[in-house]
Amino acid sequence: MSENRIRLLIRAKVEAGLLPAGPNRETYGRRGGTGTCSCCDTAIGALEVEYEVHFFSGQMLLVHMNCYRIWREEWTGIRPSLAPERCEKRGPEVVSRML
Ligand SMILES: [Zn+2]
Repeated sequence: MSENRIRLLIRAKVEAGLLPAGPNRETYGRRGGTGTCSCCDTAIGALEVEYEVHFFSGQMLLVHMNCYRIWREEWTGIRPSLAPERCEKRGPEVVSRML
């Protein structure tokens, strides 16, 4: 799943109240393999890092390390533009026109 797709999914969940919009009380990182990510709804593999995120309400969620980073950006208001992926593949002619 691309980062843009994960970001849109997380944003929709935050806006729907399915994911808290921070702040978290404590966060622990460890090797995955035990759960499903609350952000992207896919299993957290044994070779991935999972974060256990605790909130002041007592709620605890497991998420991928990368999903946690995107989720935090969403709840703190840092939202990089969701540029079309073709913009990441600019050729030299496009770059030279930009200079
Ligand atoms: Zn995830």
